[in-house]
Amino acid sequence: MSVEAASTLKGGAVVIETLLVLGASGDLAGRLLLPAVGQLLDSPEGPEALTLVGAGMEAWDEDTWRDRITKAFASVNATGPGIDKTIATSIYLTADVTNAADLKRLLDACQGPPAIYFALPPAVTAKACAALGQVSLPPGSALVLEKPFGVDQASAADLDAIIGRLVPEDQIHRVDHFLGKSTVLNLLGLRFTNRLLEPLWSADHIDRVDIVFDEPLGLENRARYYDGAGALVDMIQSHLLQVLALIAMDPPASLQARDLRDRKADALRACRVWAGDPAAASRRARYTAGTIDSRELPGYAEEAGVDPARETETLAELILEVDTWRWAGVPFRLRSGKALGNGRKEIVITFKPVPRLLPGLTGIAEPTRLRISMGPDRLALDLNINGPDDPFGIDRVTLDADFNPGRLPAYGEVLEGVFRSDPTLSVRADTAEECWRIVDPVLQAWRTGAVPLEEYPAGSAGPATWID
Ligand code: NDP
Repeated sequence: MSVEAASTLKGGAVVIETLLVLGASGDLAGRLLLPAVGQLLDSPEGPEALTLVGAGMEAWDEDTWRDRITKAFASVNATGPGIDKTIATSIYLTADVTNAADLKRLLDACQGPPAIYFALPPAVTAKACAALGQVSLPPGSALVLEKPFGVDQASAADLDAIIGRLVPEDQIHRVDHFLGKSTVLNLLGLRFTNRLLEPLWSADHIDRVDIVFDEPLGLENRARYYDGAGALVDMIQSHLLQVLALIAMDPPASLQARDLRDRKADALRACRVWAGDPAAASRRARYTAGTIDSRELPGYAEEAGVDPARETETLAELILEVDTWRWAGVPFRLRSGKALGNGRKEIVITFKPVPRLLPGLTGIAEPTRLRISMGPDRLALDLNINGPDDPFGIDRVTLDADFNPGRLPAYGEVLEGVFRSDPTLSVRADTAEECWRIVDPVLQAWRTGAVPLEEYPAGSAGPATWID
């Protein structure tokens, strides 16, 4: 593994100006990647223009591809000379990206070292990476890989070994488009610039940590991807564990990629399912038909493209421990689900109760809570203060503030790191494997039926027995 570039979240110069999209006709490319490219080009952070090369099995002509890019850029109102130039110079080549000769043809069409974006089904990505081993990549090329990275710890390690032979680790971007630069900096700024928080940030004062991503959206025609993943892999393994790492890690020495990623890796290495019992520490459920915001949703099992026999969960919950001096005994609850009535995307730090309540004060029920919402990023601190009428009565108040929203959505911020060759926001090989190491025993317990698949009506808060 090479020594990582001394890059920081501030970003350096743009060093990559060609984006090669493998899987250009796919859903991710059209719905997420190309719009984010448009937003980045239209921002002061992005390259002025890009050479955009699309590749896929579809026998598209240039006009079809340029039309796709134009629509994607228009969907985010991206305009300007860089946008026009990128569209006008972009090319499309029909190719089987698992074939080395086709890959060579694609690389020959690139200007300078490209960022190669694998917008492909995971199994095709693995084959394309293997085929790239037979082709020489221009020095400085970057690889951009989507979630899920592998299907378990062993397959992630195999893929790491293959791509590690292609380019140095700091040129590999396993993208986590959930945590953009602003969210990461907001968390770091909050934790490490307030003397008030860090001394309390441990098992001595914190009772529990909840990291929740509940969304009202159902499957949204994404069965092809989601039915093979489920909530545990789609959200908890891929994203929420990264959030946990930022909450649990020790202070990094700097914002440089190596310092930050080392501290995140330390936290994840110490993380395991609560009490080593994956069946007791996890729950899973699937939504049935219901109504959300006056929208009728069919049950997940009835959605087009879903194979009900796979028993894919749409709501997952996992209790983890971070087995360090700082965190021993503090449960970290990670939960994510779809088709839930109450969209809730937040980190909740619940502090321990005060050691003794003063006799005579009344009405104190709740502990101090710090709530950090993700998208839009907001901060709320729930405190107890004396009520307005009865000076002995304690009331609940909330101090709140908005975080800086950042100039770009998370996906654009992550892409910015790719073009600046800054791996700070990318998931490092060891961390990607650790995340699988943490969830693999849970997936195994679910496969053996040790954890029942429960049900909840779409639009509800989850299975009735889960409400706490
Ligand atoms: P799709 O199935 O929609 O698209 C995959 C693309 O790859 C298609 O254009 C397909 O072309 C092309 N392709 C498949 N095999 C080859 C081949 N041998 N040579 C060239 N092209 C090929 O998948 P998604 O876009 O949904 O997902 C892509 C990746 O992104 C996956 O890893 C997924 O996990 C990840 N992801 C997707 C998200 C989403 O919202 N879609 C969100 C987050 C991650 P054809 O159709 O002609 O076969």
